[in-house]
Amino acid sequence: MGSEGLLRTPELRQYVLETSVYPRELELLKELRTVTATHPMGIMATDADAGQMLAMLLEMINAKKAIEIGVFTGYSLLLTALTIPHDGKIIAIDPDQEAYDIGLPFIKKAGIGHKINFINSGAQPVLDKLLENPDEQDSFDFAFVDADKVSYAKYHEKLLKLVKIGGIIVYDNTLWMGTVAMEEESVPEMLRESRHCMRELNKLLAADDRVRICQLPSGDGMTICRRLC
Ligand code: SAH
Ligand code: CA
Repeated sequence: MGSEGLLRTPELRQYVLETSVYPRELELLKELRTVTATHPMGIMATDADAGQMLAMLLEMINAKKAIEIGVFTGYSLLLTALTIPHDGKIIAIDPDQEAYDIGLPFIKKAGIGHKINFINSGAQPVLDKLLENPDEQDSFDFAFVDADKVSYAKYHEKLLKLVKIGGIIVYDNTLWMGTVAMEEESVPEMLRESRHCMRELNKLLAADDRVRICQLPSGDGMTICRRLC
């Protein structure tokens, strides 16, 4: 993400962060954000403003049971685990153990490790396994998807069976650095495949009457879906 995010100017983004976001960001999240910024892929981490929105949603629906696909160093995971109640649970899936290990000391320091079940794997087989268990079906309050863009449409079908009616699924990066609205030829080659996936996903979600949707420009674009039926 460029420093302006998707807002009109970098100054406006900075204004939002400094006025409304950073003063409220928990110390441990700040620390993890600072450490993650030194990682070569640090730009992938959830932005603090997007995190603030996730925490608001989690609280509004009293989320107790959550699932996260795409953990990286764990900013959104730490935030989720800090926000849900003491007996809340979150299944967190990512094949990158090394990145997860960077965030692990912060999880331990926060004393919220008991809420987290980290699964070191690609998400697809884990979701399939969960779906085999009737106790897991329709049981999650909240899902956050922030992983391989090519799989979002597949995750959507599976998550609609795991998240309960009234529950929330949030998809991250749905505006893909603004490239979704650009001509393909003007988009750098390395961004094209995910741009295509996000464009397809946005159409699919808009046409899916099983969910209410809300497209936000926070971070790199986030789409909130609420399961209706
Ligand atoms: N939510 C994180 C950022 C995630 S970045 C944060 O707040 O910092 C995207 C992550 O998706 C990477 O860590 C990558 O390893 C993971 N990923 C890629 N393919 C995946 C898959 N098939 N299943 C689950 N995670 C995947
Ligand atoms: Ca992301």
